[in-house]
Amino acid sequence: MTDPSETRSGEEPLFQLSPSERRHQEAILLEEARHRVERCLRCPLGKTRNKSVFGEGNLWGKLLFVGEGPGADEDEQGMPFVGRAGQLLTQILQAAGIRREDVYITNVVKCRPPGNRVPTFEEMMACDEYLQTQIALGRPSLLVLLGNTPTKWILKTTEGISKLRGRWFSWKGMSVLPMFHPSYLLRYPSSTEGSPKHLTWLDIQEVKRKWDEVRGTDLCSEGEGQLS
Ligand code: SF4
Repeated sequence: MTDPSETRSGEEPLFQLSPSERRHQEAILLEEARHRVERCLRCPLGKTRNKSVFGEGNLWGKLLFVGEGPGADEDEQGMPFVGRAGQLLTQILQAAGIRREDVYITNVVKCRPPGNRVPTFEEMMACDEYLQTQIALGRPSLLVLLGNTPTKWILKTTEGISKLRGRWFSWKGMSVLPMFHPSYLLRYPSSTEGSPKHLTWLDIQEVKRKWDEVRGTDLCSEGEGQLS
C-alpha cells in the first residue's frame, strides 16, 4: 500500500502525514476493507456464511494472530475465536501476560467453510487480499500462525505444524512463528511435558518475550504464569 506522503527518492514530499494522521487514515482504510468483506461474494463461502468475520483487536499492537477460518460460533457472532477454541486462545494469551485486546486476531478466510472443512486453495486465494490489507495497514512486527492452514499459506511450505511450531521464520520483514491451533489442543488436553499443550505454553512465552523486545518493554511479570 502506498503512503500518500511518500515520494520517489530525491523529491520533496507534497505533505507529510503526522503519525496520528497516518493512523487515522489507516483506520479508515481498515473499516473500508471490513465493509468490503461484509458484502464480499468473491468465493462460494460468501453464499453460505451467516456473518463474515473480519478480525478483532488492536491492529497496531505489533502482534498479529492468524487462524484458518471462522467456525460455527464465529459465523454466528461475526467475531474471531469466540467458541471453545477461542476461549482457550484467550486463556493462553492471558497466561503469558498478553491482553487479547492489545493484539489483532484474524483468519486466512473471512467466511466459514461449511462443516468447518479446510478452505480450498481458491478460497484462500480469493480472500488473501483482505489479509494482505490487514498486514499492510497494521505493519505488525510479529505474526503468529495458528495451525497448519495459515502456516502453509503464509510460509508456502508443505511441512506440517508439528515440525515448524516454535521456530521463528522471516517473511516480508516480519518475524513469523507457527503455533498449534487451539482446537488441536482441545483434542489433546494433556499438559504433560512434550504434549501439544506444553509445547504451546513454551511457544506463547517465546512470543511474549519477542513481543516485549519489539515493543522495547519488559512486562514479563504481568502473566498469570501457568497454562492449566
Ligand atoms: S471467504 Fe473471503 S473471498 Fe470468500 S466470500 Fe468471504 S470474504 Fe469473500
